[in-house]
Amino acid sequence: MLTPGEVKLTDGRSVEFANLDIAATAPCLRVVADAVADLLPFYGSVHRGAGALSERCTREYEQARETVADVLGHGPGDTVIFTRNTTDAFNLLARAVPAGTTVVTFDTEHHANLLPWRNPVRLEAPRSPAAAVEILRAALRGLEGNVLVSVTAASNVTGEVWPIERLAAVAHEFGARIAVDAAQLAPHAPKRLAGLGADYIAFSGHKLYAPFGAGVLAGRADWLDAAEPYLAGGGASAHVADDGTTRWATGPARHEAGTPNLLGAVALATALRALHDRDLATAEQALLQRLRAGLAALPHVTELRLFPADAERVGIVSFTVAGRDPGEVAVTLGRDHGIGVRTGLFCAHPLTRRLLNDDKSDKSGQAVPDLSSGQAIRASFGIGTTAEHIDRLLAALQ
Ligand code: PMP
Repeated sequence: MLTPGEVKLTDGRSVEFANLDIAATAPCLRVVADAVADLLPFYGSVHRGAGALSERCTREYEQARETVADVLGHGPGDTVIFTRNTTDAFNLLARAVPAGTTVVTFDTEHHANLLPWRNPVRLEAPRSPAAAVEILRAALRGLEGNVLVSVTAASNVTGEVWPIERLAAVAHEFGARIAVDAAQLAPHAPKRLAGLGADYIAFSGHKLYAPFGAGVLAGRADWLDAAEPYLAGGGASAHVADDGTTRWATGPARHEAGTPNLLGAVALATALRALHDRDLATAEQALLQRLRAGLAALPHVTELRLFPADAERVGIVSFTVAGRDPGEVAVTLGRDHGIGVRTGLFCAHPLTRRLLNDDKSDKSGQAVPDLSSGQAIRASFGIGTTAEHIDRLLAALQ
C-alpha cells in the first residue's frame, strides 16, 4: 500500500494520516503501482500499431479484460467494457438498453445509478433486505416487455449490503435483467461478484486501490452489441464509407472509441486480482465492529442506517454528532487529529436526507439543536486501516 505518511497537526505534532475516506477513492496498492511502473517503458498504442510496443500494450490491455472476465465468472455471452468509472458505466448501459425497456431502481441509489435512467420506476426505500426483495417482487408483477432492475450491492452511505443474490433471483423469475452497482462491494468482497447472479456489473478502479480513471461495465453482450456506440469515433468504427455511412464494430470496441486507457485497465485488473486472492473480510469486520461499538457508546453520536442494526455491512459508517456542524467536525478531525473523513450527502441525496430525517434526537431521546446543515459525516476504511485509526477517531469524537 502506498501511504502519504505523516501529517502535521495544529499543535505541532506529526501523526500518521488516518485515511478514513477510502470509499471515495482508495489509496494505491503497491502491486498495482509496480504493475503500472513495469509497463511504462513499453508504453505504446493499443489496437493501433504493429511494432513490439503496440503488440505488448494490446496484449496487456486484452489480458486486463480477461482478468476482469475471469473474476466475474463470465461465460461466452458476456463482455467487459472499460469505461472511465461507475458513473460512465451506468450512462453507457442507460443508452444501450433497448427502446421501451422499463428500468426499475430504488430511490436509495447513488446518483450514478439514479440519474442516467430515463423515467425509471423508483421503488420506495426498503427498511430491511427482506423488504427490498418483497418490494421488488410486487413491482415486477405488473410489468411487461423488457425490464432492467438496477440496484446497488453495498451502500456508500451506510455500508449496508443489499441482498443482490435474492433480488437477482426475483428479477430472473419475472424474466427481467439486473444491473448491479458494485462500486462499493467490489473493493470489499470481490469474491462475491461472480456469484451475485447479475446480468450487468459496474465498478470503478479508483475505489479498488487502483488509480488512473478506469471503470468497468461487464455483462451480457447482446444489448450492448445491438446498441448505438456510446462514443462515436476511431476504434468503434469497423468501416467508414466515402459517403459517410459507418459500419460499427461489435464487442467491447463498439463502446470504447478513442485510444483506450491502458494503464487504467491494467491497474484495475491487477488490483481486482490482488484483492480477489486476499482475505479482506476478517480484518475489516473486526474494525467495523470496533468502530460501531465505539460510536454506539457515544451518547451524542448517531449512526445512519436504513436496515436493522445487525444487517450485513462493509467498512462504511455515516453518522451525525448532535448539536455539531459536520463540516466543523471534519475540519477538526483533519487539523487536530490527522484523520480524513467525508461530509455531505455522498451523491445519494434522497437516501441520506431520508436517514438524516430519521435522526432527530440524541440517544437519550432528547431533541437536540439541528446544526447538521442537512449533512452527515462518513468514515470508511479498508486495507491499510488500523485499530489505532479507529480508536483515534472515537477518542476525537469523545
Ligand atoms: N456507486 C456507488 C455506490 C458509489 O459509492 C460511487 C462513488 N461514490 C459511484 C457509484 C460512482 O463512482 P464513480 O465516481 O467512480 O463514477
